[in-house]
Amino acid sequence: MVSLPKTMKAVWIEETGGTDVLQYKTDIPVPEPKEGEVLVKNEFIGINYIDTYFRSGIYPVPKFPYILGREGSGTIAAVGPNVPSDLTPNKRVVYMGQHAYAEYTPVTANYTIPIPDEISTKDAAAAILQALTAITLIREAHPVKKGEWVLVTAAAGGVGLLLCQLLKAVGARTIATASTPEKRELAKQNGAEVLLAYHEEDRDKFVEEVLQATGGEGVAAVFDSVGKVTFDACLKCVKRKGSMVSFGNASGAVEPFSIARLSQKNAKLLRPALIAYITTRDELQMYATELWDFIDKKKLNVRIHEVYPLKDVVRATQDIEGRKTTGKLLLQP
Ligand code: NDP
Repeated sequence: MVSLPKTMKAVWIEETGGTDVLQYKTDIPVPEPKEGEVLVKNEFIGINYIDTYFRSGIYPVPKFPYILGREGSGTIAAVGPNVPSDLTPNKRVVYMGQHAYAEYTPVTANYTIPIPDEISTKDAAAAILQALTAITLIREAHPVKKGEWVLVTAAAGGVGLLLCQLLKAVGARTIATASTPEKRELAKQNGAEVLLAYHEEDRDKFVEEVLQATGGEGVAAVFDSVGKVTFDACLKCVKRKGSMVSFGNASGAVEPFSIARLSQKNAKLLRPALIAYITTRDELQMYATELWDFIDKKKLNVRIHEVYPLKDVVRATQDIEGRKTTGKLLLQP
């Protein structure tokens, strides 16, 4: 076993609220791994938009104080009872779980896998949650077919840029929205074909542009992560028998909705969560293998916006919430 310190740095919240509730601590006891868990010494911690939902109270926090963060990578520092034999001390691993904003994180073996030699620890943390989200969206939520038109909102964000690349890799045609010309250019460089502004003042204009780009038909699928303010317009962009996939709430939760509206086009409506597509280690391994393969074959490039020191968590959070970022944000303890 690796020798462990008694205390560690971590970021926790004692209540929900704005970024002022984020507390950087230097004296948190180092946790012990329980049955089926390993303790990971984090080298890189991924920031995800979902972290802001827990902090602000959109999603419920199980218990205060609560250490935020859903993914990280590093090395195994300690092993609890009954973990798979490939998870041994000092092994480089990447995981999805809770309490990642810390030097050490106990994680269930179900959501922890060794990092292949050809993938860096940094890229593994930057990719795992957002890229698996993108992969499960195109494979499961709406199995995307070659030649299909797909609409992606927030296309220059972490998940967005990965979606643009994956859609290109599977032969789909992407219409991308992002808030600035620079972000739209980036979406284009990552595979999007048609670039649109949201037209916040006139959503019908946005719908018209999507219909125009698709010969009046609409798109086979929408992958919308903006939520509240884009849901309605996005649904109007779906073609007959297409899929409206709402997978995030960056602008707030989608308002209650009458399912009768779906009958106009026999559209499918999905609200998927990655964690319900990947519930076992076999499922994680299967999708991770596809992810490493995409990276290995140079079909997926993970753009890292910035690596922030853990103590700069407030600045990092303000950057992502302030729509200033493109690609992935990482923290380093
Ligand atoms: P991003 O890097 O995409 O950041 C969020 C982006 O949302 C911003 O850059 C911004 O892009 C856009 N946005 C639109 N409206 C707002 C607003 N009012 N406030 C802030 N941002 C806004 O984050 P992630 O890649 O981490 O996550 C993207 C989305 O995917 C999130 O909604 C997240 O919850 C969801 N997600 C869902 C998962 C699931 O399992 N269902 C798993 C992982 C992520 P722009 O300025 O171009 O509009």
